[in-house]
Amino acid sequence: MFDKIAIIGLGLIGSSIAHAARRGKLAKEIAGFDVSADVRARAAKIGFCDQVYDDLAAAVKNAQLVILATPVGAYKGVAEAIAPHLAKDAILSDVGSVKGAVVRDVGPFVPAGVHFIPAHPIAGTEFSGPEAGFATLFDGRWAIITPLPGADSAAVARLRAFWEGLGSRVDAMEPGHHDLVLAITSHLPHLIAYNIVGTAHDLEAVTEGEVIKYSASGFRDFTRIAASDPIMWRDVFLNNRDAVLQMLDRFNEDLRQLQDAVREGDGEFLFDKFSKNRAIRKAIIEIGQECAAPNFGRDQKKT
Ligand code: NAP
Repeated sequence: MFDKIAIIGLGLIGSSIAHAARRGKLAKEIAGFDVSADVRARAAKIGFCDQVYDDLAAAVKNAQLVILATPVGAYKGVAEAIAPHLAKDAILSDVGSVKGAVVRDVGPFVPAGVHFIPAHPIAGTEFSGPEAGFATLFDGRWAIITPLPGADSAAVARLRAFWEGLGSRVDAMEPGHHDLVLAITSHLPHLIAYNIVGTAHDLEAVTEGEVIKYSASGFRDFTRIAASDPIMWRDVFLNNRDAVLQMLDRFNEDLRQLQDAVREGDGEFLFDKFSKNRAIRKAIIEIGQECAAPNFGRDQKKT
């Protein structure tokens, strides 16, 4: 599909793209670059790239597809650095968990003749780094592409086919809409998980270890989400502020209603609310975005 692709940032997502691209024979050369010499050495040792470059310009040179896979906060600097070295007609894409801010930060540096098409795979784990990646991460998961108005349709079709080759199902939407949808499906759940785990941690002194001991009663599932990379998630909240605040307002209103129902002993309200929510989980299992196996069917590494 491509002679050369370049992946910038060789952590969980970057390394998984490399593994899956190799599995799907999507590129003759998979080039990689990471800012960290240690990560570069570890990536070279694992061998998911054909070549790990020490030099950003050399990594992207002649690449027909360049994918930014660093935390979103690093995008602006990377875009500025690679811009003069991008090949004419190359596709410049990314995997960032927010899209409006990516358009804002990367867009101004995109040279004429380069096709900038942001994207976001809805797949991940709580693990980070080049060892965390695996070829099946995107299988059956959605990848959302957010082409800008006037985007070259052939380039969009090529990127879509690339993600399908990685195993994904592909949807397209406008960046602002993506940020609103992800604020409720991903960003807010992470904020809540970070908060509840933090609160429980603070209570640990009071409960003398019982939070950990009895964690299977519900708390454990929050700790998986709250184990996610702190740099990545800091950047998500810094870069999707408006949508997250909008969803947080709504969340707080609903929480207040539950609080009132608990205070007033309104069992009917609680039962109705909980019953409705059960149906959502059933629907997620039915469309194959989760499985019904114990412990959500997760093994040690893969979600
Ligand atoms: P990760 O495992 O921490 O990998 C990110 C890598 O990028 C690290 O090796 C990091 O090096 C490197 N890096 C940082 N700044 C760089 C720069 N300026 N130039 C080159 N490399 C740089 O993170 P990840 O989970 O793969 O996330 C990467 C991107 O995927 C993020 O934008 C995130 O929003 C998106 N995403 C993540 C998930 C998920 O579940 N994790 C899902 C979908 C999308 P250092 O470690 O030395 O900083």
